[in-house]
Amino acid sequence: MSNPGWIPLLDLGPELRHMRLELDEAYRTVMDHGRFIMGPEVRQLEQEIARYMGSGYAVAVNSGTDALLIALRAAGIGPGDEVITTSFTFFATAESIEMAGAVPVFVDIGESDFNMDPDAMEKAVTSRTKAVVPVHLFGKPAAMARIMEIAEKYDLKVIEDCAQSFGAVYRAACGDCHDRCDPRWRKQLEGRQTGTLGQAGAFSFFPSKNLGGFGDGGMIITDDEALADTAAMLRVHGARKKYHNETLGYNSRLDTLQAAFLLVKLRHIEDFNRRRREVANRYQEGLSGLSWLRLPVQPDTGHVYHQYTVRIQDRSRDSLMEGLREKGIQTMIYYPVPCHKLPVYRNRNQTLDKSEEAASHVLSLPMGPFLSAADQQRVVDALRSM
Ligand SMILES: *Cc1c(COP(=O)(O)O)cnc(C)c1O
Repeated sequence: MSNPGWIPLLDLGPELRHMRLELDEAYRTVMDHGRFIMGPEVRQLEQEIARYMGSGYAVAVNSGTDALLIALRAAGIGPGDEVITTSFTFFATAESIEMAGAVPVFVDIGESDFNMDPDAMEKAVTSRTKAVVPVHLFGKPAAMARIMEIAEKYDLKVIEDCAQSFGAVYRAACGDCHDRCDPRWRKQLEGRQTGTLGQAGAFSFFPSKNLGGFGDGGMIITDDEALADTAAMLRVHGARKKYHNETLGYNSRLDTLQAAFLLVKLRHIEDFNRRRREVANRYQEGLSGLSWLRLPVQPDTGHVYHQYTVRIQDRSRDSLMEGLREKGIQTMIYYPVPCHKLPVYRNRNQTLDKSEEAASHVLSLPMGPFLSAADQQRVVDALRSM
């Protein structure tokens, strides 16, 4: 899939080869039954993901963006409402809030990772705040015990952006809120899957995500029966009963074929996420002690390393990237511009120090379940020689 010697940020080729026979079989099954829209695999995927997560309901949709939008609307978020989220995320987080008719209010991230600072969240609450969308960025769960404690205090809905965190598990010892969170919430959330911590979780099956499909796709999970029912209604043009449309919805069904492929990948996700953690552990060992490189903290949290993202300090990130590229190593910047500095929000003139600082220092290194030890050593050696 790539020139020999070139180490891409993510190589889907080995995953595909690993699952090829099962995927071919899934393809044949769907071609044989021919139920391409809302076929039996869609329902089966919803059931299996709900079971895997330990959540009551799952609603498959067309993308992670739609999963966020539909979850927000199904939670009752709409015009006039403010929704607190982070600026250091993919634009779809903010966009889905806007598409629901609400206003995204950006708050800063914490010190130890790239996730929402709960204190900043609390400071941003107004009488119009109705919800919060924490993002488990790069696969690391946000400081959810503290976030849930604050959300409860102000009666806010919590819709988790789990686009990057499929399979991640919350550990109360996350360190992000410096152990200041309520022991009751810590106990309640400990060991649970991201997406089951708030009222609903929104997942993406975009091919590069941990549970990536072979096209667009997404999923909402929740324990709230009414929310699941409304989401399922919004997914199909706002109709619970065909041709009896109640409200304006969407055409946001997940293709049967994607569901069939995702059922295959779901069987491998624990193994794939475990392999990602192993890669992260090897980076942690291989890259420690470089004064200009800040590694992600705590490799043994419930992190699923959608990205392995370091911070480059006291040297030019551009020339480092260029030097790595010359050695055949691809790296990427997620995200070069925080949302509040994008053209669509620039007129807000907002300053968020830590988000801006992260955007100008982060660098994501090659990561994936099948990144070989030899290729990874090349990345480590290249960095150490610079
Ligand atoms: C990918 C992503 C989304 C959007 O998912 P799509 O399936 O591409 O629509 C939303 N939020 C975050 C943090 C993402 O990484």
